[in-house]
Amino acid sequence: MLKETEFRKTVADTLKEGKTRQRFEQAIAHQNQRRKNNNTLFSDYELATKRAAYIRWKSVESIDKLLIAFEANCIKAGIKVLWALDSEQTLQEINTIARKYNLSNIEVNSRLQQELNLPLSESVNGKKMLVRDATFITSEPATIISRDESETMLRQSASEDVTLYLAPIDSILSSPYDAEVLISILSANPTQPNIRNNFRMITAANENHGAAVYVLLVDNGRSALLENIKLRQLLRCINSGACHESSSVVHSIGFSGGHQNDYGPLLFAKAPALGGYKDFGHYAYNTPLCGQCNVVCPVRIDFTDINLENRHVQVQQKLRPQKERLFYMVWKKTMLKREFMNWKAVNPMRYCIETLFLKSKTGIRKLPEVAPVSFNQQWRERLALK
Ligand code: SF4
Repeated sequence: MLKETEFRKTVADTLKEGKTRQRFEQAIAHQNQRRKNNNTLFSDYELATKRAAYIRWKSVESIDKLLIAFEANCIKAGIKVLWALDSEQTLQEINTIARKYNLSNIEVNSRLQQELNLPLSESVNGKKMLVRDATFITSEPATIISRDESETMLRQSASEDVTLYLAPIDSILSSPYDAEVLISILSANPTQPNIRNNFRMITAANENHGAAVYVLLVDNGRSALLENIKLRQLLRCINSGACHESSSVVHSIGFSGGHQNDYGPLLFAKAPALGGYKDFGHYAYNTPLCGQCNVVCPVRIDFTDINLENRHVQVQQKLRPQKERLFYMVWKKTMLKREFMNWKAVNPMRYCIETLFLKSKTGIRKLPEVAPVSFNQQWRERLALK
């Protein structure tokens, strides 16, 4: 995440590259392909998304109970469970396991690598630990559902000495049956055509060819989202990628402000809460509030509501510029007073607003022209009122 000045600079550099049309055309092609895939995979895609949204809502609302049940069932199954609050603790846990088993070869292959600033893997000989992602974990029975992106990785994961699965706390589901519809939705992603064939379910440590299996439950700011009833929706995300394809902001600025695995509407919505409204509140303004992301999101996250909430918090905490606050104070007073809205007062007011608040180099920011007679006047004339 970047602070406002850095963010503006990065965005300006990205715009200079002039790849907006290319990104837009690619996104349209992906959207069309995704629609085709959805029609092939589901007889009723709308119904599937309703189910997916319900499953994710239910999981997030009972996340505390599910995680405790998951840990208890993992212990019974011989899988060791660790917890990490942030990237520092994640690294500590990885190093502790490496020391315990005397592992010199740690291979990290995870979507969370950038989020947690994990060091890149170095190829070393010796006993090996593979750090991978758990796409979902389920509490009853304890299951790790992991995605192998290639056949090579499938073969590799059969030969390591220790496997550590990094599971964000929000990847929890109550049962493996819940995962079925979610995996099918993920399979419609046009950039990952064969992922359905590459999911593995690990239910007990001995199923992993005798290698020790660990699950590291990572929080990294997710509890902060849980606290707020509106922001909590973001934890339902299953990384389908649909919102990135439909976002006009992503078409323009690509990954700017985030990275390959975390960008677009999801990042813009969570950044203020995770990084602090003072430094990262500007992310809430990277949206035209058109609601297109809400429409395409298979788990029905309401991005418009979340971005408005983030803006509202900034106003409450008095983090918006003085000029903007003054503008809205004048605006509110005007809207609440009938006499101010009479047409005689509009032109002087227009002059003040345009000069004070809407000044721009090109002079294109202007209030719309008003009709010669106001609705109020017309109404009075028709009813012969004074
Ligand atoms: S938030 Fe975006 S990436 Fe996550 S499930 Fe919804 S559409 Fe997919």
